[in-house]
Amino acid sequence: MNKVAPAVIVLSQNSVTLARKIITVLPGATLYGLAGRTCDVDISFTNFGDTLRELFAQGTPLIGICAAGILIRTLAPLISDKRQEPPVLAVAEDGSAVVPLLGGLNGVNDLARRIAEVLDTQAAITTTGDIRFRTALLSPPPEYHLANPEDAKTFISDLLAGEQVKLEGTAPWLSNSQLPIDPKGNLTIQVTERCVIPTANCLVYHPKNIAIAITHPDVTLDLVQALLANADIASAAIAGIFAPITIAAYANIHTIADFYGVPTRFFREDLAAEALALTATGRDGKLLNSLSQIAIAYDGRYAIAISPQPIDPNTIGQPQGRLAIIGTGPGSSQWMSPEVKEILKSATDLVGYKTYLDLVGSLAAGKQRHESDNREEIARATMALDLAANGRYVVVVSSGDPGIYAMATAVFEVFDHHHKPEWDSIDIHVAPGISAMQAAAAAVGAPLGHDFCTISLSDILKPWSIITQRIAAAAEADFAIAFYNPVSKDRTWQLADARDILLRYRTPNTPVILARNLGRPGQTVKVITLDQLTPDVADMRTVIIVGSSQTKIINRIDGSVSVYTPRRYYK
Ligand code: SAH
Repeated sequence: MNKVAPAVIVLSQNSVTLARKIITVLPGATLYGLAGRTCDVDISFTNFGDTLRELFAQGTPLIGICAAGILIRTLAPLISDKRQEPPVLAVAEDGSAVVPLLGGLNGVNDLARRIAEVLDTQAAITTTGDIRFRTALLSPPPEYHLANPEDAKTFISDLLAGEQVKLEGTAPWLSNSQLPIDPKGNLTIQVTERCVIPTANCLVYHPKNIAIAITHPDVTLDLVQALLANADIASAAIAGIFAPITIAAYANIHTIADFYGVPTRFFREDLAAEALALTATGRDGKLLNSLSQIAIAYDGRYAIAISPQPIDPNTIGQPQGRLAIIGTGPGSSQWMSPEVKEILKSATDLVGYKTYLDLVGSLAAGKQRHESDNREEIARATMALDLAANGRYVVVVSSGDPGIYAMATAVFEVFDHHHKPEWDSIDIHVAPGISAMQAAAAAVGAPLGHDFCTISLSDILKPWSIITQRIAAAAEADFAIAFYNPVSKDRTWQLADARDILLRYRTPNTPVILARNLGRPGQTVKVITLDQLTPDVADMRTVIIVGSSQTKIINRIDGSVSVYTPRRYYK
């Protein structure tokens, strides 16, 4: 099974609706559209060939809404290793045909069937084994792991040539298939959670039916490995790591789960390790140490249980709650970091001021939105923490950088001052963004190239006397200064006051940059001088940079203006 999320590629706007329909059955998939021909896509590309080859090389499953031939010709130079290649399939523009092309060993037929189902059509499956036996031995259902894929090719050829197979252990997907099952067969398929040494005429599948319960944060990976080795359990048979929510934030538990590539799931109930393991396996489960052949001593910190069927961990308990506080950059999506885009794709809930949520665009599709007024920061932060404590993946959206006059601080303030014990289980992460001053500086050159500071002119959260003191100190220290929140409907005189303080230390012709709606429709960037700085030239969507004594203006030959602050002081 391929773990990378698929890319759906469209070349014209006609195909966008079909692509979105396909994406409904491919969680996490990204819609790629040819620039100039498509809009409302997740990622625009200009070069089809390079984009496709790059995605293929990264192992991304590819679904092209285009002719099969285009995909084959584009990828031909890269097709060399069928074990490595991701699924590639072509879907007809009218949704009438779904054609798996490559990636037979990585689940392309299953992917094709899933897409065909949502499009109400048939997948064009051409793999002999798959058709004859109605099952793909090489890509079993996700809750089974094939231990010896290297033996499968010959094994399947032998079956196609007429050999019979003996089934040891239970797996409905095998017993309900059209495999030639016969207890006297020369070939064997073994379904077991035990470590067995596979041979060429025996395929071994490990069902994910082992639950590891851990109730103490000091249980280490080494210990778990030793327990499993002792019990002769294959690591591919582990379904998940289960624990009380109170230890969700500790690292060991996640190290163990990551090592085995399985989810961590948490319980609110206060259960002992044995009870917890048995809750995970369900009522037919058994503790490993109750099975006579295994000697394993439980010390109250852990327990291992086995279920007769595979366990779907995603239906048991809850995941660890996650709270990501992200910055989208000032506006357009080119200024949003790849990390932030990744987080937005995986999240379940978005919390933020409506305007900022709108800036996220199509990345917000399908998520629960919790919009609020820009002033309700404390309520917003509390709601985000509460949602995350319930196992949601919550993203708090700020514009620019989340740590600069934005929501990251509000979340930590609430966490600190209004603390609730259930918040201790949350994984909190801050993902940076490009701040307005950086975008403003870049738009004109390099005015922040030497020492600088930022000052918010908003006196809602701090007294004006502190602000004036800071402006004077920054001016005296000869910092370039970025002013945030310069003017609002209710705060108009502050900017004139700030200018008058600055004029005590700077010449009237000091360069000043007014940058409004950066990265958004209607962006303007103007360079004026300090004596021209009046409240009517700025608003809440403007960031202002005032130069230091050294800041220079360059008048370019084309009439444009660049501003920079030199890296050294000239005598
Ligand atoms: N976290 C944001 C700042 C939020 S405070 C950041 O790092 O950029 C809000 C102030 O930021 C606004 O009053 C304005 O001064 C500035 N600002 C935010 N986005 C802006 C944009 N796109 N263009 C110009 N200024 C912006």
